[in-house]
Amino acid sequence: MADTAAARKSLESQLAELKTRQSRIVEDLAQPLDRDASEQAVEMEDDDSLRGQAALVAREIVSVTRALTRIEDGTYGQCVRCGAVIAPERLKARPEAALCIACARNEQ
Ligand SMILES: [Zn+2]
Repeated sequence: MADTAAARKSLESQLAELKTRQSRIVEDLAQPLDRDASEQAVEMEDDDSLRGQAALVAREIVSVTRALTRIEDGTYGQCVRCGAVIAPERLKARPEAALCIACARNEQ
């Protein structure tokens, strides 16, 4: 049985941090473009990288939320693919991990 109390705590703070990051990115993206053309090019590049970050943060929010759901379900710490117990060191490093190391390797 995984130590879900500690995992829940770190997942919840991770989620809060991700949501803060997400709203900051959304705000940045909502800024109107500068009228100066050269500035505009730079800002558009920034927007591209912001959109990339936004997608990444959104994905992380999904996996952290899923991990919290697995805690509720009592399936936390089990690989969602093969059902094997995920190594505690792995969960410590990545509390949101849904796959055991073997499945995660296969995924890549
Ligand atoms: Zn697995």
